Parts: sequence; C-alpha cells; structure tokens
Amino acid sequence: MSWDIARKAIDLFFALNDTSPFLGLHKRKLDIVFFGGEPLIERDLFRKVVTYVSSTKRSNYRIDLSATTNLTLLPISLARFLVENNIGLDVSLDGPMQVHDLYRRDSADHGSFDTVYVNLALLQQLSPQYFATRVRAIVTLNGNSDLIAIRDFFEAGDPCIPQVGFVGTVRDLRDSSFHRHYPFQPERYGEQYFELLADYHRRKRSGVPVVRGEFLYHLMEDPIIALYKRMMRYGAPEASARPEGCTPGRRLAVSTSGEFHVCERINEDFPIGDVDHGLDLDRCQQVQQKFATALPDCSHCWARGICQFCFASTCQYGEFAFTDRKCAGMREGLSVQLRSLYTLLEAVPDGLACGDPLIDRYRLVQEPT
Ligand code: SF4
Repeated sequence: MSWDIARKAIDLFFALNDTSPFLGLHKRKLDIVFFGGEPLIERDLFRKVVTYVSSTKRSNYRIDLSATTNLTLLPISLARFLVENNIGLDVSLDGPMQVHDLYRRDSADHGSFDTVYVNLALLQQLSPQYFATRVRAIVTLNGNSDLIAIRDFFEAGDPCIPQVGFVGTVRDLRDSSFHRHYPFQPERYGEQYFELLADYHRRKRSGVPVVRGEFLYHLMEDPIIALYKRMMRYGAPEASARPEGCTPGRRLAVSTSGEFHVCERINEDFPIGDVDHGLDLDRCQQVQQKFATALPDCSHCWARGICQFCFASTCQYGEFAFTDRKCAGMREGLSVQLRSLYTLLEAVPDGLACGDPLIDRYRLVQEPT
C-alpha cells in the first residue's frame, strides 16, 4: 500500500466517524488494525501511519492501534517502537512447536515457532507490562489440531507465551481447501473437543473460574456468550428472522489498492467504495441484497435466528454460496453450543457471570430497554 492511499484512508475514516450515522455509533473508541498479508513487512509505512494517527488529536474518542502479525520479522528498533507506542499485537500462534510448525512454515520450509518465540521473548523483556496487556495469541484451529496439546501449552505458565485473545478455525473445518492438503481427522478432533468441553463444565460446576486469556475460555465460553447475547437481544432461535449478515460500512477494510470492503475476511469481489470516492451506500445495499437473494429457504430452519453465516464465510467467486452440507454443519455446531449453554445455565444459573468485561456487556443486554 502506498503512503498516499494509507493517508487518504485514515482521513476518510475520521471524516466518516465524524459524520456517518453508522460509524458514529462507535465514537468512544476507534480501532485501527494493520492486517494481512503481513503488516510488519512494511516497517516504514507502518511507522509513518502510526505517527500520523497519533498526531491527529481527537478529544471525542480514543484511538486504539493494533496489528495482526505472524511475528517472524521483528528488529529491535521496531520492537521498541511497538512498546513505546503501545501498539496491540495479535500474534498468530497455534500452539506448541509440533502444532504450530505443521502449517506455519517459511519459504525454505522451516517451521516458524522458534523465530516467533524469540520475538515474543524480546517483547516480554522490553516491557512485561506491555506484553501482559497488549500482546495476545490468535489460535487458528484446523481439523488436525491437537486440542489437548494446545490447552496444555497455553496453561504451562511460560512468561514468554502471551494470553490467548481469540480462537478461530480455518474457514470450513470439514471442507476447507486447507484439508485438500492436510486431511481432516474428525475422530481425534471430536474426541478432544468433547473432552475439553467436559473439563470446562466440570470447572464451572466446581466454581473454578475459566477466565478470558485461557484457551478453554475462548474455545468454549466465548462462543456461548455470543450465542446467549444474540438470543437475549432477538429472542429464541426459531422466533427470529433469517440471517442478515452484518451491516456494510460499520467497519471498513482497505485493500492495498485503496478499495473498501465489508471486513478484512471477505474476498475482494464486493467493494463498497474506495479512498477517492468514499463509502458507496448503493454498493453497501447491493451486498446485502445479493446475500439475501442467495440465502436458501430458511423459514423452516430452527437455527434461523442464530445462524452465523455472514458475507465473509459464504463469499465465493463473486457470489454468496450456501449448500445443504454447509447448513447442516452450521446446525450441528450450533446445537453443540446450545447444549453447552443450557447445560451450564441449568447447573450454574449465574455460570456466565465471572466478572469478565464481556459478561458486563452480556448483562447489559439482559436489562429491559
Ligand atoms: S443454516 Fe442454512 S437454512 Fe438454516 S438459517 Fe442458516 S442459512 Fe438458513
């Protein structure tokens, strides 16, 4: 990305937040995220953007800067810059070396775990406070993930391993293009998942907190909190309307050529504006219409109010694609989460109230409006 495009994108982002009815909703805190390919390759541009944003005084909201990185490139000068500017880091770290290095390999086919570990240790040494509060591990699971080994790794108490910030999966656990190269092992994955689920419920029943930052929290509790919040907002699953996707324009992903996209995960087939012409509301509407048109008949589906399909998870060659198999997979995943949620609430009615900031938000949605 050129400096010209980056600067225009930031100027427009601030202007939209000052004027747009969508983005204005989030005025108290604005997040600017440097995201993919690998943002720390473009070190000069990265520093220039951070300095530019920091020099823009905004009294009406706080700006949070962060980067999603594989952390394989970290000269000491850049490490100091990150710490001094309090830039959040979401580090792709899939687990212990034998898990991480299976797929995270460099062009010479060497696993990257050792390099990432050295760079994490550097950040931890420079500032334990920064490391504890601003560096998080982003764990991507696939059908071959050894969930028990990952849980043990993050629980081992190594000071150079950050807390977990998010646990996600490759786009489609069962049928991702990823699994054409690395076949899915459903038996082991399923066995380990349910072993950890049982462990999660045991701990909740015995009053041992499962807290944000733990692998188990992000694997088991995060999804059921999200589900519960959605049901609190919109009613029981079958009572709600069909899935809608998110609102285009509430967040903006800017490509290297300056096009705007609905989010950072969608492919580049559905632009909704660009840095020269701004946000295109007609295109935003077209994306929503296209998604609505592509939806199957959801009227008889029990999951229609909590279905998690979105633009990014269904985009494919310029279209949004749903199949019976994908819908069956969605319902299967949701039914596991629903069972987990109600098992927890039946055994421990306030089982989701562990003083976590997420729960405060969950409590808010419970209050009558
Ligand atoms: S799972 Fe499929 S049929 Fe059911 S609500 Fe989602 S998109 Fe519609």
